[in-house]
Amino acid sequence: MDKVIDKIENRKKTLFSIEIVPPLRGNTLENIYGRIDQLIEFNPAFINITYHKDEEVIKKKNDGAVIRRKISKRPGTVALTASIMNKYNVQVVPHLTCGGFTKDQIENALIDFNFLGIKNILALQGDAGHDNKQFIPEKNGHRYAIELVEQIVNMNKGHYLDDDLVQKNHSDFCIGVAGYPEKHYNASSLDSDIHYLKGKVDAGADYIVTQMFFDNKVYYSFVDKCRAAGITVPIIPGLKPIALMNQVDVLPRLFHLSIPEALNKEIRKCKTDDEALEIGTKWSIEQSKNLIENGVPVLHYYTLGAGDSIRKIAEQIF
Ligand code: FAD
Repeated sequence: MDKVIDKIENRKKTLFSIEIVPPLRGNTLENIYGRIDQLIEFNPAFINITYHKDEEVIKKKNDGAVIRRKISKRPGTVALTASIMNKYNVQVVPHLTCGGFTKDQIENALIDFNFLGIKNILALQGDAGHDNKQFIPEKNGHRYAIELVEQIVNMNKGHYLDDDLVQKNHSDFCIGVAGYPEKHYNASSLDSDIHYLKGKVDAGADYIVTQMFFDNKVYYSFVDKCRAAGITVPIIPGLKPIALMNQVDVLPRLFHLSIPEALNKEIRKCKTDDEALEIGTKWSIEQSKNLIENGVPVLHYYTLGAGDSIRKIAEQIF
Protein backbone atom coordinates (compact mmCIF):
# COMPACT_ATOMS: atom_id res chain seq x y z
CA MET A 1 0.00 0.00 0.00
CA ASP A 2 2.02 2.94 -1.29
CA LYS A 3 -0.46 5.75 -1.81
CA VAL A 4 -1.19 8.20 0.98
CA ILE A 5 -4.91 7.97 0.22
CA ASP A 6 -4.88 4.15 0.58
CA LYS A 7 -2.96 4.40 3.85
CA ILE A 8 -5.58 6.84 5.12
CA GLU A 9 -8.50 4.71 4.00
CA ASN A 10 -7.04 1.56 5.59
CA ARG A 11 -5.78 3.12 8.82
CA LYS A 12 -6.67 1.60 12.17
CA LYS A 13 -5.68 4.76 14.04
CA THR A 14 -4.41 8.27 13.35
CA LEU A 15 -1.22 8.07 11.27
CA PHE A 16 2.05 9.88 11.92
CA SER A 17 3.91 11.72 9.14
CA ILE A 18 6.68 14.29 8.86
CA GLU A 19 8.01 16.91 6.49
CA ILE A 20 11.75 17.17 5.88
CA VAL A 21 13.61 20.03 4.22
CA PRO A 22 16.59 19.07 1.98
CA PRO A 23 20.02 20.04 3.37
CA LEU A 24 21.50 23.42 2.48
CA ARG A 25 23.90 23.26 -0.49
CA GLY A 26 27.24 21.89 0.71
CA ASN A 27 25.76 19.97 3.66
CA THR A 28 25.60 16.20 3.82
CA LEU A 29 22.71 13.78 3.91
CA GLU A 30 23.78 12.54 7.34
CA ASN A 31 22.07 15.46 8.99
CA ILE A 32 18.75 14.47 7.36
CA TYR A 33 19.25 10.80 8.17
CA GLY A 34 19.97 11.78 11.78
CA ARG A 35 16.61 13.53 11.96
CA ILE A 36 14.77 10.58 10.43
CA ASP A 37 16.65 8.11 12.69
CA GLN A 38 15.19 9.96 15.68
CA LEU A 39 11.63 9.43 14.40
CA ILE A 40 11.60 6.24 12.35
CA GLU A 41 10.63 4.03 15.33
CA PHE A 42 7.25 5.82 15.37
CA ASN A 43 6.53 4.42 11.89
CA PRO A 44 5.84 7.50 9.81
CA ALA A 45 3.25 6.52 7.21
CA PHE A 46 5.03 8.84 4.77
CA ILE A 47 7.73 11.49 4.73
CA ASN A 48 7.33 14.68 2.71
CA ILE A 49 10.33 16.39 1.13
CA THR A 50 10.02 20.08 0.33
CA TYR A 51 11.17 21.68 -2.94
CA HIS A 52 13.01 25.00 -3.13
CA LYS A 53 13.35 26.82 -6.42
CA ASP A 54 16.46 28.79 -7.39
CA GLU A 55 16.90 32.12 -5.67
CA GLU A 56 18.72 35.13 -6.99
CA VAL A 57 21.83 35.99 -4.97
CA ILE A 58 23.70 39.25 -5.34
CA LYS A 59 27.44 39.24 -4.56
CA LYS A 60 29.76 42.21 -4.41
CA LYS A 61 33.28 41.35 -5.58
CA ASN A 62 36.49 42.96 -4.29
CA ASP A 63 36.74 45.17 -7.38
CA GLY A 64 33.28 46.56 -6.63
CA ALA A 65 31.56 44.63 -9.41
CA VAL A 66 28.12 43.30 -8.48
CA ILE A 67 27.27 39.83 -9.65
CA ARG A 68 23.74 38.48 -9.73
CA ARG A 69 23.18 34.79 -10.18
CA LYS A 70 20.55 32.20 -9.45
CA ILE A 71 21.33 29.26 -7.22
CA SER A 72 19.35 26.56 -5.57
CA LYS A 73 20.17 26.75 -1.87
CA ARG A 74 18.57 23.39 -1.14
CA PRO A 75 19.02 21.20 -4.21
CA GLY A 76 18.46 17.45 -4.34
CA THR A 77 14.73 16.85 -3.75
CA VAL A 78 14.54 13.96 -6.26
CA ALA A 79 17.77 12.25 -5.13
CA LEU A 80 16.86 12.74 -1.47
CA THR A 81 13.43 11.21 -2.09
CA ALA A 82 15.00 8.12 -3.68
CA SER A 83 17.69 7.70 -1.02
CA ILE A 84 15.22 7.98 1.88
CA MET A 85 12.89 5.47 0.23
CA ASN A 86 15.81 3.04 -0.24
CA LYS A 87 17.29 3.47 3.21
CA TYR A 88 14.10 3.41 5.29
CA ASN A 89 11.63 1.56 3.05
CA VAL A 90 9.05 4.29 3.65
CA GLN A 91 6.90 6.13 1.13
CA VAL A 92 8.26 9.60 0.43
CA VAL A 93 6.12 12.42 -0.92
CA PRO A 94 8.17 14.91 -2.92
CA HIS A 95 6.77 18.42 -3.24
CA LEU A 96 6.50 19.67 -6.81
CA THR A 97 5.94 23.34 -7.52
CA CYS A 98 4.81 25.45 -10.47
CA GLY A 99 7.61 27.86 -9.55
CA GLY A 100 10.97 27.06 -11.13
CA PHE A 101 9.67 24.71 -13.83
CA THR A 102 8.34 24.90 -17.35
CA LYS A 103 5.60 22.42 -18.21
CA ASP A 104 8.17 20.30 -20.07
CA GLN A 105 10.47 20.24 -17.05
CA ILE A 106 7.52 19.19 -14.90
CA GLU A 107 6.80 16.36 -17.28
CA ASN A 108 10.45 15.26 -17.04
CA ALA A 109 10.31 15.42 -13.24
CA LEU A 110 7.12 13.32 -13.25
CA ILE A 111 8.82 10.74 -15.48
CA ASP A 112 11.77 10.63 -13.02
CA PHE A 113 9.41 10.18 -10.07
CA ASN A 114 7.51 7.46 -11.90
CA PHE A 115 10.69 5.57 -12.80
CA LEU A 116 11.82 5.79 -9.17
CA GLY A 117 8.60 4.16 -7.98
CA ILE A 118 7.32 7.29 -6.26
CA LYS A 119 3.55 7.09 -5.89
CA ASN A 120 2.69 10.37 -4.20
CA ILE A 121 3.22 14.04 -5.00
CA LEU A 122 2.25 17.22 -3.16
CA ALA A 123 1.37 19.72 -5.92
CA LEU A 124 1.96 23.37 -5.07
CA GLN A 125 2.24 26.79 -6.60
CA GLY A 126 5.54 27.34 -4.74
CA ASP A 127 6.81 30.17 -2.62
CA ALA A 128 6.98 33.55 -4.29
CA GLY A 129 10.59 33.89 -3.10
CA HIS A 130 12.04 36.51 -0.81
CA ASP A 131 12.25 39.15 -3.52
CA ASN A 132 8.78 38.60 -5.01
CA LYS A 133 5.67 39.56 -3.12
CA GLN A 134 3.59 37.98 -5.88
CA PHE A 135 4.28 34.63 -7.45
CA ILE A 136 5.66 34.96 -10.98
CA PRO A 137 5.16 31.88 -13.16
CA GLU A 138 7.89 30.60 -15.47
CA LYS A 139 7.51 31.28 -19.16
CA ASN A 140 5.60 28.24 -20.40
CA GLY A 141 5.00 27.19 -16.81
CA HIS A 142 1.94 27.03 -14.58
CA ARG A 143 0.55 29.88 -12.47
CA TYR A 144 -1.72 28.00 -10.07
CA ALA A 145 -1.39 24.63 -8.37
CA ILE A 146 -4.61 23.48 -10.06
CA GLU A 147 -2.79 23.52 -13.41
CA LEU A 148 -0.08 21.29 -11.97
CA VAL A 149 -2.74 18.93 -10.59
CA GLU A 150 -4.26 18.81 -14.08
CA GLN A 151 -0.90 17.98 -15.65
CA ILE A 152 -0.33 15.13 -13.17
CA VAL A 153 -3.87 13.82 -13.74
CA ASN A 154 -3.23 13.92 -17.49
CA MET A 155 -0.04 11.91 -17.09
CA ASN A 156 -1.97 9.43 -14.92
CA LYS A 157 -4.21 8.99 -17.99
CA GLY A 158 -1.21 8.65 -20.30
CA HIS A 159 -1.62 12.11 -21.84
CA TYR A 160 1.79 13.73 -22.32
CA LEU A 161 2.39 17.28 -23.51
CA ASP A 162 3.25 16.05 -26.98
CA ASP A 163 -0.03 14.86 -28.53
CA ASP A 164 1.90 12.84 -31.11
CA LEU A 165 3.40 10.46 -28.53
CA VAL A 166 2.34 6.99 -29.54
CA GLN A 167 3.71 4.82 -26.71
CA LYS A 168 1.86 6.24 -23.77
CA ASN A 169 2.97 4.76 -20.49
CA HIS A 170 0.84 6.24 -17.75
CA SER A 171 1.67 7.05 -14.15
CA ASP A 172 -0.52 6.43 -11.11
CA PHE A 173 0.29 9.27 -8.73
CA CYS A 174 -1.75 10.05 -5.64
CA ILE A 175 -1.96 13.85 -5.47
CA GLY A 176 -1.97 16.04 -2.38
CA VAL A 177 -2.54 19.81 -2.32
CA ALA A 178 -2.15 22.58 0.26
CA GLY A 179 -4.97 24.22 2.26
CA TYR A 180 -4.87 27.24 4.58
CA PRO A 181 -7.10 27.24 7.69
CA GLU A 182 -6.35 30.95 8.16
CA LYS A 183 -6.56 31.65 4.39
CA HIS A 184 -3.71 31.97 1.90
CA TYR A 185 -2.19 35.44 2.09
CA ASN A 186 -3.14 36.31 -1.50
CA ALA A 187 -6.75 35.19 -1.24
CA SER A 188 -9.35 37.94 -0.89
CA SER A 189 -11.30 35.85 1.66
CA LEU A 190 -11.34 32.39 3.19
CA ASP A 191 -14.43 31.57 1.12
CA SER A 192 -12.63 32.49 -2.10
CA ASP A 193 -9.59 30.44 -1.04
CA ILE A 194 -11.82 27.42 -0.30
CA HIS A 195 -13.51 27.90 -3.68
CA TYR A 196 -10.12 27.50 -5.41
CA LEU A 197 -9.19 24.66 -3.07
CA LYS A 198 -12.31 22.83 -4.22
CA GLY A 199 -11.15 23.47 -7.78
CA LYS A 200 -7.92 21.57 -7.04
CA VAL A 201 -9.88 18.68 -5.53
CA ASP A 202 -12.36 18.60 -8.42
CA ALA A 203 -9.37 18.55 -10.79
CA GLY A 204 -8.15 15.34 -9.16
CA ALA A 205 -6.38 16.01 -5.84
CA ASP A 206 -6.84 13.08 -3.46
CA TYR A 207 -6.17 14.85 -0.17
CA ILE A 208 -5.27 18.19 1.44
CA VAL A 209 -2.47 19.03 3.90
CA THR A 210 -2.94 22.20 5.89
CA GLN A 211 -0.61 25.02 6.70
CA MET A 212 0.46 24.91 10.36
CA PHE A 213 -1.99 26.29 12.93
CA PHE A 214 -1.83 26.63 16.72
CA ASP A 215 -5.51 26.72 17.62
CA ASN A 216 -7.43 23.56 16.77
CA LYS A 217 -10.68 25.54 16.56
CA VAL A 218 -9.25 27.21 13.46
CA TYR A 219 -8.70 23.78 11.86
CA TYR A 220 -12.13 22.43 12.82
CA SER A 221 -13.86 25.51 11.47
CA PHE A 222 -11.85 25.24 8.22
CA VAL A 223 -12.80 21.58 7.82
CA ASP A 224 -16.49 22.45 8.41
CA LYS A 225 -16.33 25.19 5.76
CA CYS A 226 -14.60 22.85 3.30
CA ARG A 227 -17.25 20.16 3.87
CA ALA A 228 -20.03 22.75 3.43
CA ALA A 229 -18.38 23.76 0.14
CA GLY A 230 -18.52 20.14 -1.04
CA ILE A 231 -14.88 19.10 -0.41
CA THR A 232 -15.00 15.50 0.75
CA VAL A 233 -11.32 14.38 0.62
CA PRO A 234 -9.23 13.92 3.81
CA ILE A 235 -7.84 17.14 5.28
CA ILE A 236 -4.55 16.39 7.07
CA PRO A 237 -3.63 18.86 9.84
CA GLY A 238 -0.07 20.23 9.65
CA LEU A 239 1.56 20.96 13.02
CA LYS A 240 4.74 22.69 14.07
CA PRO A 241 5.81 22.97 17.69
CA ILE A 242 7.29 26.35 18.61
CA ALA A 243 10.97 25.75 19.34
CA LEU A 244 12.43 29.27 19.62
CA MET A 245 11.33 32.38 21.51
CA ASN A 246 11.26 34.55 18.38
CA GLN A 247 8.93 32.20 16.48
CA VAL A 248 5.84 33.89 17.94
CA ASP A 249 6.87 36.86 15.82
CA VAL A 250 8.54 35.12 12.88
CA LEU A 251 5.94 32.43 12.07
CA PRO A 252 2.97 34.83 11.74
CA ARG A 253 5.07 37.08 9.51
CA LEU A 254 6.38 34.28 7.28
CA PHE A 255 3.30 32.11 7.10
CA HIS A 256 0.45 34.58 7.65
CA LEU A 257 -1.04 32.78 10.64
CA SER A 258 -1.98 33.65 14.19
CA ILE A 259 -0.68 32.51 17.56
CA PRO A 260 -3.32 32.11 20.28
CA GLU A 261 -2.93 34.65 23.06
CA ALA A 262 -2.41 31.98 25.76
CA LEU A 263 0.57 30.49 23.87
CA ASN A 264 1.89 33.91 22.94
CA LYS A 265 1.87 34.97 26.61
CA GLU A 266 3.64 31.83 27.82
CA ILE A 267 6.38 32.05 25.19
CA ARG A 268 6.95 35.75 25.87
CA LYS A 269 7.59 34.95 29.53
CA CYS A 270 10.46 32.59 28.52
CA LYS A 271 14.03 33.68 29.15
CA THR A 272 15.69 31.02 26.96
CA ASP A 273 14.93 29.05 23.81
CA ASP A 274 14.99 25.85 25.89
CA GLU A 275 12.07 27.17 27.93
CA ALA A 276 10.24 28.14 24.72
CA LEU A 277 10.84 24.67 23.28
CA GLU A 278 9.37 23.05 26.39
CA ILE A 279 6.23 25.19 26.22
CA GLY A 280 5.92 24.74 22.45
CA THR A 281 6.23 20.96 22.81
CA LYS A 282 3.59 20.78 25.54
CA TRP A 283 1.23 22.92 23.45
CA SER A 284 1.73 20.68 20.43
CA ILE A 285 1.13 17.52 22.50
CA GLU A 286 -2.20 18.95 23.70
CA GLN A 287 -3.10 19.95 20.13
CA SER A 288 -2.21 16.45 18.89
CA LYS A 289 -4.22 14.67 21.60
CA ASN A 290 -7.28 16.78 20.87
CA LEU A 291 -6.99 16.25 17.09
CA ILE A 292 -6.74 12.48 17.60
CA GLU A 293 -9.82 12.54 19.85
CA ASN A 294 -11.60 14.24 16.98
CA GLY A 295 -10.60 11.51 14.53
CA VAL A 296 -8.13 13.26 12.21
CA PRO A 297 -6.66 10.84 9.64
CA VAL A 298 -3.00 11.83 10.02
CA LEU A 299 -0.92 14.19 12.17
CA HIS A 300 1.68 15.76 9.88
CA TYR A 301 4.61 17.49 11.60
CA TYR A 302 6.89 20.13 10.12
CA THR A 303 10.31 19.14 11.47
CA LEU A 304 12.50 22.08 10.41
CA GLY A 305 14.23 23.26 13.58
CA ALA A 306 11.89 21.14 15.71
CA GLY A 307 13.32 17.59 15.48
CA ASP A 308 13.85 17.16 19.24
CA SER A 309 10.38 18.32 20.17
CA ILE A 310 8.76 16.13 17.54
CA ARG A 311 10.45 13.08 19.07
CA LYS A 312 9.07 14.09 22.48
CA ILE A 313 5.61 14.57 20.97
CA ALA A 314 5.78 11.24 19.13
CA GLU A 315 6.81 9.45 22.37
CA GLN A 316 3.61 10.70 24.01
CA ILE A 317 1.25 10.32 21.07
CA PHE A 318 2.27 7.38 18.82
P1 FAD B 1 -2.60 27.75 -5.20
O1 FAD B 1 -3.56 26.68 -4.87
O2 FAD B 1 -2.24 27.95 -6.63
O3 FAD B 1 -3.21 29.11 -4.60
C1 FAD B 1 -2.42 30.29 -4.54
C2 FAD B 1 -3.32 31.50 -4.37
O4 FAD B 1 -4.06 31.73 -5.57
C3 FAD B 1 -4.38 31.37 -3.28
O5 FAD B 1 -4.58 32.64 -2.73
C4 FAD B 1 -5.63 30.91 -4.02
O6 FAD B 1 -6.81 31.30 -3.36
C5 FAD B 1 -5.46 31.64 -5.34
N1 FAD B 1 -5.96 30.90 -6.51
C6 FAD B 1 -5.85 29.58 -6.75
N2 FAD B 1 -6.33 29.29 -7.97
C7 FAD B 1 -6.75 30.46 -8.52
C8 FAD B 1 -7.34 30.83 -9.75
N3 FAD B 1 -7.61 29.91 -10.69
N4 FAD B 1 -7.62 32.14 -9.97
C9 FAD B 1 -7.35 33.09 -9.03
N5 FAD B 1 -6.80 32.79 -7.83
C10 FAD B 1 -6.51 31.50 -7.58
N6 FAD B 1 6.40 26.16 -1.15
C11 FAD B 1 7.53 25.77 -1.79
O7 FAD B 1 8.12 26.57 -2.53
N7 FAD B 1 8.05 24.52 -1.62
C12 FAD B 1 7.44 23.59 -0.83
O8 FAD B 1 7.94 22.48 -0.71
C13 FAD B 1 6.23 23.95 -0.16
N8 FAD B 1 5.56 23.06 0.61
C14 FAD B 1 4.36 23.43 1.19
C15 FAD B 1 3.63 22.47 1.92
C16 FAD B 1 2.41 22.81 2.52
C17 FAD B 1 1.64 21.76 3.29
C18 FAD B 1 1.92 24.15 2.42
C19 FAD B 1 0.64 24.53 3.10
C20 FAD B 1 2.63 25.10 1.69
C21 FAD B 1 3.84 24.75 1.06
N9 FAD B 1 4.57 25.66 0.29
C22 FAD B 1 5.73 25.28 -0.35
C23 FAD B 1 4.11 27.05 0.19
C24 FAD B 1 3.17 27.27 -1.03
O9 FAD B 1 3.86 27.02 -2.23
C25 FAD B 1 2.72 28.73 -0.96
O10 FAD B 1 1.89 28.92 0.15
C26 FAD B 1 2.07 29.28 -2.22
O11 FAD B 1 2.01 30.70 -2.08
C27 FAD B 1 0.66 28.76 -2.49
O12 FAD B 1 0.68 27.47 -2.90
P2 FAD B 1 -0.67 26.67 -3.25
O13 FAD B 1 -0.27 25.39 -3.87
O14 FAD B 1 -1.57 26.65 -2.10
O15 FAD B 1 -1.24 27.64 -4.40
